[in-house]
Amino acid sequence: MNPGFRCPNCREPLIEHPSEYVCDTGHHFDRAKEGYVNLLPGGRLKGRPAGDDDAMVRARRTVFDAGLYRPIIDAVADTARERTVGTPTPAILDCGCGEGAYLARASAVAGGSGWGVDISKAAVRTAARRHRDLHLAVASSYALPFDDGLFDVAISVFSPRPYAEMVRVLADGGSAIVVRPGPDHLAELKALIYADPRQHRDPQVADDPDDADNDDAEGWPSKPSAVRVVGYTLDLGDAALRLALLEMTPFWWSATAAHRAAVAERARSVTVDMRLAVFRSSDGSADDL
Ligand SMILES: [Zn+2]
Repeated sequence: MNPGFRCPNCREPLIEHPSEYVCDTGHHFDRAKEGYVNLLPGGRLKGRPAGDDDAMVRARRTVFDAGLYRPIIDAVADTARERTVGTPTPAILDCGCGEGAYLARASAVAGGSGWGVDISKAAVRTAARRHRDLHLAVASSYALPFDDGLFDVAISVFSPRPYAEMVRVLADGGSAIVVRPGPDHLAELKALIYADPRQHRDPQVADDPDDADNDDAEGWPSKPSAVRVVGYTLDLGDAALRLALLEMTPFWWSATAAHRAAVAERARSVTVDMRLAVFRSSDGSADDL
């Protein structure tokens, strides 16, 4: 079955027209000139942040274009391909796609169609400009605008990972690929900003209930069917890159002008430590293989 967006109001399929999407009930959603559609009711969800702003999206673009995250982008793409061998045109969803780097690579490498949602309009607009072949919507991962069982792969990279929603839209036998920070991720940046930098707990060992990043850990099996560690050291040759890396992290909000200056001057070598976990969906749940 080919994926397609469904109406966030009545759940009927949305029919694509040149300038809008329309459901049978008559709800209309404008298609932006870049090609994406905004399906977020009221433009913003109560109690949740509106997502990454323009500056954060630009910072991430800078970091990705410099190739700093290429190993994890490739690891996600290779995993998507391995998990869809034998499927002619796998449907790949990115929950929290940002500016589209992971999704574009994964759908290209797996030879599939790429579908992405993010609550940040700035991020989706940037993704749509750069990746015309992706199907993109401003929407929440907590209310994915899709019918059940459509996707062969659902990705969540440093993004919300609502278990029930991701499992709902996965086809039987489909795979969820979830990337979380490992214990040493960006340790040198943290050390320059926090007096007592707390390590990220290893997300595959134990989820830390005090960590706000883990507020949607519930439901995921404690043991994924596969875990891959992606670790390497970034050599950050210039201050602009060091600041861009800082700006794309949550540490940015805690950083004073003095912290930023310290990062610009001293964050020359920074550790990347990520955990890529794969869960296989069967009968409406994600189990170990
Ligand atoms: Zn509708």
